[in-house]
Order: sequence, then C-alpha cells, then structure tokens
Amino acid sequence: MSAPNPRPPLTIRMHAADNVAIVANDGGLPAGTVLSDGLTLVDRVPQGHKVALSAIAKDAAVLRYNVPIGYALKDIAAGAWVHERLLHMPEARALTDLPKATAQAWKAEPLEGYTFEGYRNADGSVGTRNILAITTTVQCVAGVVDFAVQRIKAELLPRYPHVDDVIGLEHAYGCGVAIDAPDAIIPIRTLRNISKNPNFGGEVMVVSLGCEKLQPERLFPPEQRAIEIVATHADNTGATGQFYSQTIPALDVVCLQAEQHVGFMSMIDSVLASAVPHLERLNARRRETIPASELVVGVQCGGSDAFSGVTANPAVGYCTDLLVRAGATVMFSETTEVRDAIEQMTARATSPEIADAMAREMAWYDAYLGRGQADRSANTTPGNKAGGLSNIVEKAMGSIIKSGTAPISGVLSPGEKLEHKGLHYAATPASDFICGTLQLAAGMNLHVFTTGRGTPYGLAECPVIKVATRTDLARRWHDLMDVNAGRIADGDATIEDTGWELFHLMLEVASGRKKTWAEHWKLHNSLVLFNPAPIT
Ligand code: CA
Repeated sequence: MSAPNPRPPLTIRMHAADNVAIVANDGGLPAGTVLSDGLTLVDRVPQGHKVALSAIAKDAAVLRYNVPIGYALKDIAAGAWVHERLLHMPEARALTDLPKATAQAWKAEPLEGYTFEGYRNADGSVGTRNILAITTTVQCVAGVVDFAVQRIKAELLPRYPHVDDVIGLEHAYGCGVAIDAPDAIIPIRTLRNISKNPNFGGEVMVVSLGCEKLQPERLFPPEQRAIEIVATHADNTGATGQFYSQTIPALDVVCLQAEQHVGFMSMIDSVLASAVPHLERLNARRRETIPASELVVGVQCGGSDAFSGVTANPAVGYCTDLLVRAGATVMFSETTEVRDAIEQMTARATSPEIADAMAREMAWYDAYLGRGQADRSANTTPGNKAGGLSNIVEKAMGSIIKSGTAPISGVLSPGEKLEHKGLHYAATPASDFICGTLQLAAGMNLHVFTTGRGTPYGLAECPVIKVATRTDLARRWHDLMDVNAGRIADGDATIEDTGWELFHLMLEVASGRKKTWAEHWKLHNSLVLFNPAPIT
C-alpha cells in the first residue's frame, strides 16, 4: 500500500523554450493528472521522466536546457510520456569551427576571507588529510602490502596520533603490459602523480616485487625526484643573486625479491621498518589556517538521473563559481559526459589555445572509443534511462552544469598534474573509479560526487562529499549522503542555498572538523588506472 501523494503535481522545465518538463513527484504521476497549467497527462509518467508540454510532430526537436536532446521518431501528443524509444539522438558535433574563447567576460566579485585548517606541504600544495600512502609498482605485491598495512595500523599507528591513516596505493598495472607503447605514459604518470597527492605530505615509500616491468626507477626517474633549492646569497666573487641547486633524494624502496628477504615475515618487517621514518615526519605536522584558494576540488557524478541536472549538479555548479571566486582550483572531467557540450566549453575557454586543447582531448577520446567500435552513446546505463535520462545528450547537458559559469583556464590530459589554479577541464573517462583516480593524480584534496540513483562511492586517499539529487534517495540513504539537493525540487531550498551549504561543508570537511559518511564507514573504492595501451 502506498501512501497518498502528499504534494500537488510538480513538473520542472529548465528553459522557457523547452517543449518537455520532468515530473518531480515521488513515484511519478498517473495518466489523467491535471498539471497546474491545465495540461492533462495522457500517460503515466515516472518520476524524473519527461512529459510533452505541447504536441511534438515527427522529426521535430525535443528541447531540454534549450538544446535538442533528440528528434521525435513519431508524432507525440501533448501530455504524453517522452522516453528514449520515441527519440532519435543527434550526431556528435564536429570538432571543427568551434567558437574559441568567445564567451563574455565573467563578472564575479572575488570571494575573500574564507579559510580552512590544512597541512602545508614543502611543494606549496596543501593536504586536507595526513596519510601515509605506500606506492606499489605492480599488482603482485598487493597482498603483502595489505598484510603490512594491517600490521602498521595495529602496531605503529597508535604511536603517531597525528597521522590519519595508512593506505596501500594498489592497482592492476605494472607487469604484463606493453610498457613502451605511447599510451603507457597515462597509467605510469597517473601512479607517479598520485604518489605526490597533497594528502600524503610528500612522503614517497615504494614496495616493488623486483622482476616487474614498471621498475621503481622508471616510475620515479631522477628528474621526477629532483628538488630545486633556491637561495639568495653572495657567491665567491662577491656577486649577489639567486642561486639554484638540485638535490635528488634516494628512492625508498622495499623490494620483495631482494636477497635479504628470507621468509614472508622478513618482507613484512622491512615494510614496517621503512614506514617508521615516514610516520615520524608526518606525525610532526600540524594543521594551520590556510586560505580557501588552496582547495583543489574534483567534481564528478555517478548513477545520474534526470534530477542530476536540475538539483545536485546546478548546486555544485554554483559552488564551483564560489570556489573559483575564492581563488581555488576546480576540476570537472568525464569526457563522454561533456562531449555534447564542447561548444559551450570552447566558448568559455580563456584563450584559443585552451579551446584547442579541449578539442584535442575530445578528438583523442573519439578515436579511443572508435578503436573499440563504440561512441559516446555507450556511456548511458540502464539506471540512467530508468531515472529518466533518454540519452547521452540529455545526460551531458545536466553534467556540464557542475562546471558552473566561470572561464575555463586549464586542460589536463589523463594523469597530468595541475600547474595553476582556476577552473580546469581534466580529461578523464566518466567511469567513477577511473575519474576519481585521475583527479587524485591531478592533485585533488577534496572530492564532490553527485548521485541520483545512489552509490556508496568513497576513496581512501581523499574525503568524498556525496550529494543526493532527490529527497527520496537522501531519506533512504540518510547515512551515506552528505547533502540533500533534492530539497531544490521540493521547493524547500534554492540552488544558491544548497551551493552555499556545500561550500561551508567543504571547509569543515577539509579542516578535518567533519567527516563525510564515506569516511565514517571507511567505504573505499579501488584505484583504477586508465590504461589505453595494450596488455601483453
Ligand atoms: Ca562518473
């Protein structure tokens, strides 16, 4: 027995020119329902699904976000349910003749005075957590590292109360791969850059097997370990100025196949002994007051529904604008989910070169999908469609909103590290774990994840704030969702209110004063390296 629907019929139209709106009511609305504008539903329309606001002739555009999300395969009556089987999807826009850096100048006041308590690193980056991360060169050592991590947590960590956690950076890469193939640079630099994530305090500790293709020296070649020391003083001729020198620290590696290891326990003892100096240095660190400009936020969505682009993603987009105004760094990603927004993206680029870099990343991804005889339409899931998203075009229009309205000042190829602040397009697959892994490599110290269908996603490396698109999900998953953006569809909060709520929550979580639900329950998804190169 379901309770009578307590709310009057509610539909949401995203743009005045749209000829469809989505049904907001829990459980959807039955045929015969009269909407507030007098339109009568001719079909039952599930929650999150679209209703035709006027008659749509065969071949006419179905408009949502004032964008053709498809063309009618047959005449659609006013009040009918508009689902994916009635739509023909538009072709992807060609990557030529794109508008480049043509958007009007962004007028937004700088946001000053917001701070959090974080860990300042030697390279200038700032951690939101203080974690010992053990890098692995190959999957073969994962079991040993897991065993050692449990021992470190039980026996060593209690002596180092200022260290939040100890984790193994485990992955499926490292051997059995074409390591000299051009695209192998992606998984290799991803792993290298994750090891330098701001939440690990600059401590790099490696466990290697010995015979693997990804040798420690290949993962961290000397030029990657070099620390540049800049000093201003007089030289022996009496001239004063800035002098540069480089030191190359030794790599701290435990190699399981090393002669010294006799028996499994000797390997575990080596890992524990190696961890001690890292734990001592991490334990000596303290949080200090840091401007909000040092936040590096990766935004992502997963398990999307038609509300993603109505509630959670617009609230995240509003918060993205707040962060950019505060001088912080925000990355949006998920290439297949923004491919259909390429024109908007290149128009918002800060220069023609940035626009060209976006088109280059999209072209690379089109070709990557093409090699597998797929295209962007392979992205949408059964859950997306059950949630009301007809196709990737509709999904993309709801996804790009996470990027807000600020100019896009940087583009990262998969696995690259950030070099400056501001809003970035970090090109990654949309796969939740691969996107999160690549955003960690870029230097993310806080992650925001929106979901409509619901996912318990979490990362051991960085806090993940999860935002529910619907109140129904937030109610059922009350101890997994950190923010309920469904209140926007209920009429109980505005996009602006929810964006500010998220912004304030970020500062609390970044400071360690508040834990996310994923942290509370220790829900940690695996790192998944993006490897477009062949496996041997
Ligand atoms: Ca995703």
